[in-house]
Amino acid sequence: MYTTGEKPGKGNYKCLKCGQVITLDDETDTLPPCPRCGGTKWDKVN
Ligand SMILES: [Zn+2]
Repeated sequence: MYTTGEKPGKGNYKCLKCGQVITLDDETDTLPPCPRCGGTKWDKVN
């Protein structure tokens, strides 16, 4: 599990609260708050 503010690297991440999926396409991108629900917990999606 990852938290908003971390830089977990490229990939797709799913909000644990609402299921919204976002994509980080750069190693230096920071996980944002969820754009849909404001959640801050993310799981990596393969
Ligand atoms: Zn969410």
